[in-house]
Amino acid sequence: MTPILPGATLGVLGSGQLGRMFALAARRMGYRVHTFSPDTDTPTGQVADMEVVANYDDLDAVRAFAQNVQVVTFEFENVPAATAQAVAEIVPVRPGGHVLHVAQNRLREKTWLAQAGLPHTPFRHITSLAELEAALRDLGCPAILKTAGFGYDGKGQVRIQTPGEASAAWQELGGQECVLEAFVPFEREVSVVATRGQDGAFVHYGVIQNAHANGILDVSLAPPELGAGGADAVEIARAILDGLDVVGVLCVEFFVTGDGRLLVNELAPRPHNSGHLTIDACVCSQFEQQLRAVCGLPLGSTERLRPAAMANLLGDLWQGGEPNWAAALARPDIKLHLYGKEEARPGRKMGHLTALADTPSEAERRVRQAREALTRR
Ligand code: AMP
Repeated sequence: MTPILPGATLGVLGSGQLGRMFALAARRMGYRVHTFSPDTDTPTGQVADMEVVANYDDLDAVRAFAQNVQVVTFEFENVPAATAQAVAEIVPVRPGGHVLHVAQNRLREKTWLAQAGLPHTPFRHITSLAELEAALRDLGCPAILKTAGFGYDGKGQVRIQTPGEASAAWQELGGQECVLEAFVPFEREVSVVATRGQDGAFVHYGVIQNAHANGILDVSLAPPELGAGGADAVEIARAILDGLDVVGVLCVEFFVTGDGRLLVNELAPRPHNSGHLTIDACVCSQFEQQLRAVCGLPLGSTERLRPAAMANLLGDLWQGGEPNWAAALARPDIKLHLYGKEEARPGRKMGHLTALADTPSEAERRVRQAREALTRR
């Protein structure tokens, strides 16, 4: 397999912050980047060589895009299967369409995990209210009803506290195909961001500890403060990347239960928000690994130079006006990443801060302090 070398043009399906950080890594290494999405002036488009604006189901536009690049990756797993297929007839898509197919649907994802014998949250397939009621009797309450397709950041999900709430929950999600998950009283959430090369080489960044707020990632730190389960989490991630024959980056999100068991919550077949700290903390970031993997280059070192913490900046921070950037940047060790999004809606990921320190808890303290300074006027 001939590697795709600097100077080549890489295609990205999707145009959000993940594509932006991929494009920045790629351009630093001398590649050109074209991005494809229905939007204009996008986080990726602003830093790419070309921003192609068309709908994902405009397959003529998709083919024209593919003609001008040497490989295509994605930063958004809800790209329709037909789009990935149209690209794959012209240039390689990495990770392949089969990975998208599994990861873009919770039912297929959980079924795949179950068949692979990997630990996951107990779930049931739901296509009617009657099935939901039966599944609630089976799994018990509380439980979480999630749409099978197109869900992320806690969207498309409803918590059910008592069996009497079944009908309202079913209606809230519009009566579409769902999965019902048992509520997991987890002690903490962790993730493993890993990369697999075309030759099957596997690298990972170890376990990252995550805290969510309102279903959205809030703060990540590495290394985790409680070490247990690390080796197992990495081995589960390896089994997933091998089993799905991933060429690229994939993040596995886990719940860790009180008795130390790991349950896979979700797979993301691309760089992940919890891996953003690798940009400032590691020799090669998750975005550079994505580039190396999809271009068929040797994977880079995942060595972490110092403990690190990342805090997301959501649109909510803009509610009282422009955040006080000077106050956060007055701390010389804080790294600011903004994604170039014009409109700061509540819950929208606008950027993140990273801090490095001698211990993960000190890094977390610094990054939280810097974020609080943003709303001090
Ligand atoms: P998801 O979009 O499925 O990753 O869910 C977003 C967040 O909601 C997770 O990171 C958890 O904090 C919470 N959550 C989702 N599913 C469950 C579950 N089965 N039990 C407990 N918490 C959950």
